[in-house]
Amino acid sequence: MAATKKTASKKFVEPRVKVVNGQYKVSGNFHRIIPNTPIYNEKNKLCGVTNPRELTHIHSYGGEAIFFESVPKGKLMGAQCVNPDCEFPGTIWIPFRSCCADCLTRNKPVDITKVAQETGTVHSFMVTERTGAFNTLEIPIKFINVEFTHPNIDTILMGYLSYGEPEIGMRVVPIFKKKNPTFTITDLSWVPLGTPKSKLPKDFSF
Ligand SMILES: [Zn+2]
Repeated sequence: MAATKKTASKKFVEPRVKVVNGQYKVSGNFHRIIPNTPIYNEKNKLCGVTNPRELTHIHSYGGEAIFFESVPKGKLMGAQCVNPDCEFPGTIWIPFRSCCADCLTRNKPVDITKVAQETGTVHSFMVTERTGAFNTLEIPIKFINVEFTHPNIDTILMGYLSYGEPEIGMRVVPIFKKKNPTFTITDLSWVPLGTPKSKLPKDFSF
C-alpha cells in the first residue's frame, strides 16, 4: 500500500507559547524543516550534504522577567540583597539577578534609573565587527561597560553605545526602546550625556 503524503503538505505555523495554570502550552512548529542540498567536488563526486536547521528556543526569564519588562517602560532595574546576615548586605546587583550571589537569598528589585542617568560612566569599551550568534545589532557594535557611582553597586553593566564614539571615562545615559520593544537586552542602549533627542535610534527615547 502506498504511504499517504500527509507531512509533505504541512504548512509552517509560527511557534507560540502561552502560560496556562502556570505551565507552558506550546503551539505551532518549533522545528522548521528545510530541504537539504548535496555538496559536490569539481569532478561531480558527492562529498556531503548541507543540513539546514531552524529551531525556536524558549528562553524563560523566571525571576529576571521584571528587568526585561521594565526596560521598555524606561526603567533600569537592579536587584538588591535584603538579607541582613549577608556578608555584604544591601548589595545591588546589576546586571539584574534573582538571588544574591554571596548569600543566595532572593533579591528585591530596585529602580536604579536615576543612578544610571546621573552617574553612568564608560569603564571600558570594545568596538567589534564580530557580533555573536544571536546579535541583531548593526556592525560595528560599540560595546561599553558602564560603571555607576553608588555605595551599594560594585558591578558594571555591559551595554552598547548608539551614538558617538566610546571613550573611557565618558559620561553616558541610558536610552530605552519604548516603541516596538523586543523584551531583550537590546532594548537598553546608551548615548553620551548631552546627546540630542534627534540623534537617538528609531523607537528609542530617554
Ligand atoms: Zn546577600
